[in-house]
Amino acid sequence: MPMSESFKSRLFPAVEEIAAHFGTPFHLYDEAGIRATGEELKKAFAGIEGYREYYAVKALPNRRILQLMKEMGFGFDCSSIPELILARELGATAEDIMFTSNNTSDEEFAFAAADGGCILNLDDITLIDKVPAPFPDLICFRYNPGPRRTGNLIIGNPVEAKYGISHEQVVEAYRRAQKRGARRFGLHTMVASNERDYTYMVETARMVLSLAETVEDALGIRFEFVNIGGGFGIPYKPEDHGLDLPAMSAEIGALFAAFRAKHGYAPKMYMESGRFMTGPHGVLVTRAINHKDIYRKYVGVDACMSALMRPALYGSYHHIDVIGKEQSPKTEVYDVVGSLCENNDKFAVQRELPKVDEGDLLVIHDTGAHGHAMGFQYNGRLRPMELLLRTDGSVEMIRRAETVEDYFATYNFSPDRFTPAQS
Ligand SMILES: *Cc1c(COP(=O)(O)O)cnc(C)c1O
Repeated sequence: MPMSESFKSRLFPAVEEIAAHFGTPFHLYDEAGIRATGEELKKAFAGIEGYREYYAVKALPNRRILQLMKEMGFGFDCSSIPELILARELGATAEDIMFTSNNTSDEEFAFAAADGGCILNLDDITLIDKVPAPFPDLICFRYNPGPRRTGNLIIGNPVEAKYGISHEQVVEAYRRAQKRGARRFGLHTMVASNERDYTYMVETARMVLSLAETVEDALGIRFEFVNIGGGFGIPYKPEDHGLDLPAMSAEIGALFAAFRAKHGYAPKMYMESGRFMTGPHGVLVTRAINHKDIYRKYVGVDACMSALMRPALYGSYHHIDVIGKEQSPKTEVYDVVGSLCENNDKFAVQRELPKVDEGDLLVIHDTGAHGHAMGFQYNGRLRPMELLLRTDGSVEMIRRAETVEDYFATYNFSPDRFTPAQS
């Protein structure tokens, strides 16, 4: 199921009032739901010593949300300078931060090393020599298994994915890192996205543990941690089953226990879920402002793809409820559209819905990850505000809507005109 019954029961009765107070459109996130999922994860993996979630900041890079993650004891998975700043602002430092960049620049390496540093997760063997001295004590590599694993639609086939070092490079990568002075080691991979088959994640854990063994045999390295990445899936469609977290954690726990029995120690397990942590706990609330009836029937709403790119980018399904008509028969078939001059600016295509009237509120489910975060300003369409439904029932604005001033802010610079000598 998409949005939980609990979230619905707290939001739907109040949503008209919230919309009247703040205006529409807005993303709204559910603090209780996010906390519950965080606790569920911790409980599921409590049997693995040193388990830690590093929340993938890119999924929902809002300070207030990241504060919740911090309160739950999570670290942060960052891949850009602004994401590092966000994490550090909250007091995260050193091993609270995994820096999993790719195609990394000198500026990024310098920033990652500053302010107490972070866990550097290198995406390629050629980057080892580009890490500024002093080389960090603790180093990690991102592993791409290539043809050893099949991927999925969102992340792509590992063979075609730009990420990570190849299987053949692994031992050499750690050897070179050792030569540059690394003494502590981690191993990272991320091979799936929105994967709801828990056995895939179990295979990922098996894969990294087995690779850790290979590297240990070759170089005598003991891995401090393995990081199985993000990619835990959520059900977007009503008929989708969720990830079987208890079964997954039991099987992964058994793999770590077996490793410990064989080697007398086991690495810690890290993961970096974004979608699983916040995806189902966010919605986009938007009002129907127009309708048209041409070759198809359209409902025009006051949000557009600047607030939610996933349908346009991946053809993703996001469930929609029409407030006050949750139980009404779905007698109509609509495309639910925004106002951008792009024909893929659609939240739903040929969707069965109850009859929508202008003024109706639509709740678009599962926008808590890769929603607002992926927004943009194309066509002068600005990103909406973000709200947090607190556990006490109050609603807090946690980011205002973008304004026309924000749109023009990048024209604020000192004039600079240069004539190259070669002209
Ligand atoms: C995007 C990303 C994640 C989070 O992915 P989800 O699908 O949101 O869990 C984790 N780690 C890395 C390196 C990523 O790029």
